[in-house]
Amino acid sequence: MIDVAVIGGGLAGLAAAVDLAQKGRSVAIFEARPQLGGRAWSFPDASGDDIDNGQHLLMGCYSATLRFLRALGTEQLLERMPRMAIPFRKAGGAEAALKAGAMPHPLGLMQAFLGYEFLSMAERMSVLRVAVSLRGLSGEGFDALDAMSAEAWLATSGQSANAVEVLWRPIVLATMNTDVRDASAKLLAVVLREIFLGSADASALLLPARGLSDIFSRPAAVFLEAHGAMIRTHAPVRRCSVTTGGIAVHRDGGEPCVARAVVSALPPWSLRALDGHAAQFGLVDGQLDRFTPSPILSAHFWSRVEIGEYPVTGLLGTRLQWLFSKGRSADGLFRYSCTISDAREIDGLSTEQMEELIKTELSILYPGMHASALARIKLVRERAATFIPSPGMEAHRPASDGGLPGFFLAGDWTDTGLPATIESAVRSGERAASAAHDFLRRT
Ligand SMILES: Cc1cc2nc3c(=O)[nH]c(=O)nc-3n(C[C@H](O)[C@H](O)[C@H](O)COP(=O)(O)OP(=O)(O)OC[C@H]3O[C@@H](n4cnc5c(N)ncnc54)[C@H](O)[C@@H]3O)c2cc1C
Repeated sequence: MIDVAVIGGGLAGLAAAVDLAQKGRSVAIFEARPQLGGRAWSFPDASGDDIDNGQHLLMGCYSATLRFLRALGTEQLLERMPRMAIPFRKAGGAEAALKAGAMPHPLGLMQAFLGYEFLSMAERMSVLRVAVSLRGLSGEGFDALDAMSAEAWLATSGQSANAVEVLWRPIVLATMNTDVRDASAKLLAVVLREIFLGSADASALLLPARGLSDIFSRPAAVFLEAHGAMIRTHAPVRRCSVTTGGIAVHRDGGEPCVARAVVSALPPWSLRALDGHAAQFGLVDGQLDRFTPSPILSAHFWSRVEIGEYPVTGLLGTRLQWLFSKGRSADGLFRYSCTISDAREIDGLSTEQMEELIKTELSILYPGMHASALARIKLVRERAATFIPSPGMEAHRPASDGGLPGFFLAGDWTDTGLPATIESAVRSGERAASAAHDFLRRT
């Protein structure tokens, strides 16, 4: 009998499996899809370029993720932006930048906000007041923020409609995949604390320098196989049942696998599809129904003209929100990807309509960019990119244990205290692995 069966081969499942293997446990991992990586994976485009299912941005404060990548030997495949330098561009082409100054951190970061020309001087000062107020947030006051939307909190903190438009909404969309109207103020405060109060290293932006699968899932599979783990893809799990000495994991196309403990690293909407009572998973009836998915649309395009030299550009006043410059493709074209988070409004559009929208918006943002400059475009829709972290949701995010003895939960949606991100997924995986390891030691 193996020690731990992990259900789901996304980053939470992989992090749990790697951690357990490092602790000397025998592990099996069952993934429904043909490949590992879950929502963070890449695939070769017809042109031969590796493209990500969606652009991912990491931060220096992703400590569990960096530990995970160190174990896999791929930490160096993340490029650290030495100092914040993010231009924002409005429809028509006006630009202003958030550019950190040369002063030591955090003063250099403060200089970035003080120099941001899309804000009036009074608005810049009010942004700094929010940063300073974060120091005083703790305990009950901090927890109480979860009852409030980010929009309401920003309004009570004196933020103008313009400051929301050109600064806060882009930050919330990028980190929570939700509009300020629907996002929990507490989670925004968590993000802002890392940006404003963390060390220079913690607030640094990290960009994947290779396809996501080269950084995460392929090296994780190599690591796990080298540690004797069993990896099964095309293996959707249908249910779990208690059996002599352990838990049986029933999947399509194979005998049940009996393990002494199980880590479920499924998103809430997949866990809901498993046969079984909520209590079996440590949940109350209806708890999983509270998690609503929010889509992200990513448009990868290849251009004959260069439209931006910065790795990341914020886009304002258009549906497109961020532009990422990805260097040159094998055939010499300029590669870009742009993102629409919280894409619920346009989710019903056909691929042709979305392409049209993207072309129109690019020509509004970059007046020099005519339709003929666009050599090709590839859209990737992730309908369930992350759950919506609306006010009050923190109370419904489950701990890793509480269900069947030996059954543990992981996933970016569990109660990590973070928005649904890579770091939340990896942290939840490590936590579930530790809980499973302790359980095995005790029994
Ligand atoms: C387009 C996009 C952009 C993003 N951008 C960022 C970003 O910039 N920064 C950031 O930090 N995060 C970002 N995220 C979020 C990040 O990708 C996720 O938080 C993280 O990958 C979630 O990992 P997970 O393991 O919790 O879940 P998942 O990746 O969903 O893994 C769950 C796995 O379980 C499998 N599965 C489902 N049902 C079954 C079953 N019955 N049996 C077996 N296996 C099953 C699934 O196929 C999947 O592989 C982004 C996400 C998307 C989609």
